[in-house]
Amino acid sequence: MLCLDHWIAGVRDHGSSDRAGTVYNPATGEASAEVPFAAAADVDRAVAAALNAFEGWSRTGLNKRATILFAFRELVRQNADDLARLIVREHGKVLADARGEVQRGLEVVEFACGIPQLLKGEFSENVSTGVDSYSLRQPLGVVAGVTPFNFPVMVPMWMFPIAVASGNSFVLKPSERDPSPSLLIAELWQKAGLPNGVFNVVHGDRVAVDRLLTHPDVAAVSFVGSTAVARHVYETGTRAGKRVQALGGAKNHMVVLPDADLELAADSAVNAAFGSAGQRCMAISVLVAVGDAADRLVPLVRERMRAIHVGDGMRPNVDMGPLVTKQHLERVTRYVAEGVDAGATLVADGRDVERNGDGFFLGPCLFDHVRPEMSIYRDEIFGPVLSVVRASTYDEAVELVNASPYANGVALFTSDGGAARRFQTEIQVGMVGINVPIPVPMAYYSFGGWKDSLFGDAHVHGMEGVKFYTRAKVASRGKNLGFPA
Ligand code: NAD
Repeated sequence: MLCLDHWIAGVRDHGSSDRAGTVYNPATGEASAEVPFAAAADVDRAVAAALNAFEGWSRTGLNKRATILFAFRELVRQNADDLARLIVREHGKVLADARGEVQRGLEVVEFACGIPQLLKGEFSENVSTGVDSYSLRQPLGVVAGVTPFNFPVMVPMWMFPIAVASGNSFVLKPSERDPSPSLLIAELWQKAGLPNGVFNVVHGDRVAVDRLLTHPDVAAVSFVGSTAVARHVYETGTRAGKRVQALGGAKNHMVVLPDADLELAADSAVNAAFGSAGQRCMAISVLVAVGDAADRLVPLVRERMRAIHVGDGMRPNVDMGPLVTKQHLERVTRYVAEGVDAGATLVADGRDVERNGDGFFLGPCLFDHVRPEMSIYRDEIFGPVLSVVRASTYDEAVELVNASPYANGVALFTSDGGAARRFQTEIQVGMVGINVPIPVPMAYYSFGGWKDSLFGDAHVHGMEGVKFYTRAKVASRGKNLGFPA
C-alpha cells in the first residue's frame, strides 16, 4: 500500500509519530494509502521551516513573486487532469466534477497573480505642510490552512495562493481522508521556483490542528470544515492571539415561489442537491415550496432523479459517485431511516441503489412533507438527501430560512423581480442566488456564510482574503529627508 509523507522544507518527510490513517477508494471500498498523522513535534518542524523561509520570501520583490505565481498557474493547468484523478480516487466525485474543482481553484491562483496590483497602498500628499502620508499592507508571517475532505484541491486553493503571493509562508493541514492532491501541489510549487519552506504540508488529525492553533509562531489560521470544529478552531486560535477565519457547515435552502419556471427549478434542485453526492457546502438540501408549487415541483424533481446514474466516478456516463467513507455512508443512511420514522414521506429511496462490490454508494433520496423539528431538516446530513418543506406564503418561507442556525447559501426561484429584490435584502444568509441554485462567488469576490457557517469576520479569497493575510500600516514622511544617491 502507498505510504504518504508530510512535505516539510521542500522534501518528503515521514514524521516522528507512529499514528496513521487509512485512505480508501470510495468507489471500491479498498484501502489505497496510509497517511501519517503528525505529532506536535512534526508540526513544530514544519512551522520552523516556514518561519525560516519567511524572511527571504517576504522581501522577495513583487514582480518575482508574481512570476512564480504565473509559473505555478501554468503547472497546475498542465497537471489538472492528474489532480482531478487523485480527487476522484480518494473523494469519489465524478471526473468532470473533479476537473471543475481544479478549475475553480485555479481561478484563485489567477486572482493572486495580480498581487502587485492587489497590494497597492494609498498616498496623500501634503497632509500637513511638507508631510506626506501613505499606507502599506505587509504579510503576517507563518499562516496555516486546515481544510475539509469535500474539495481537496479547491478549498486549499481558496487560501494559499493569496497567502503566499502576499509574502507569507504557509503550512497546510489537508483532510486525512483525501490527502494526496496536496502533495502533488507541493511538488508543483517547487517546480515553479517557490523557495523551500514557503509551502509545507502536514497530515493528521486534531493533534496536528491543535498544535497549529497554539503554536506561538503561527500568526493566522484559515479553516474550512464542520461547524463544531470551526467553533473549536476559532475559540482556540483566537484565545492564543491569532487571526482566525473559520468557515463551518451548511444547510442550504432553495425557496421556490409558485410563479417560478418549475422546469428550471427542478433541473437546478437536482443538480444542486445530488452533485458530488450532496457533499458540497453549497449543496441544496432543503426545497421550500411555497403555495401550490410543491404539488407540481415534486413530480418534476422525482422524474429527473430517475435519470441519475450512480457509480464509480472514473467511469463515463456516471452522474453521482459514492460517499467518502463507510462511516459517512452509515451516518447518512441512519438519517434516511430517522426521516421515515419521524413521518416524512420518502418519495425516492436511494438505499436500494444497485451496488457493485464494497463501494460506499447511496442513491439519491427525496423526502416530502418534512417538518422543521425533524432531524433530517435540522442537521447537516452532507449526503444525497433532499427534503421538501411546504410553506403557505413567501413570508413563512423567509422566516423558516432565517430561523436556521446555518447561513451559508440560499436560492430563490421566481419570475417576480420585486420578490427577488425583497429576498436579497431580507434573507439572513451570506451567499444568495436568484434563479441560480449554487451562488458560489468568483475568485475576485469573497466566499463565506453568516451565523454558524462562519466564525470570524473575514470571508475567504477576493479582497477579504488579501486583507486577512496582510496587516495595514500607515506611514507619514516629513521634510528634510536625506535620500541616498
Ligand atoms: P471536519 O470538520 O470533520 O474536518 C475539517 C478539518 O478539520 C480536517 O482537516 C480535519 O482533520 C480537522 N478536524 C476534524 N476534527 C477535528 C477536531 N476535533 N479538532 C481539530 N481539527 C479537526 O469536516 P469534513 O467532514 O472534512 O468536511 C465536511 C464539512 O465541511 C461539512 O460540514 C461542510 O459543510 C463543511 N464545509 C464548509 C465549507 C464552507 O465554505 N463553509 C466548505 C466546504 C466544506
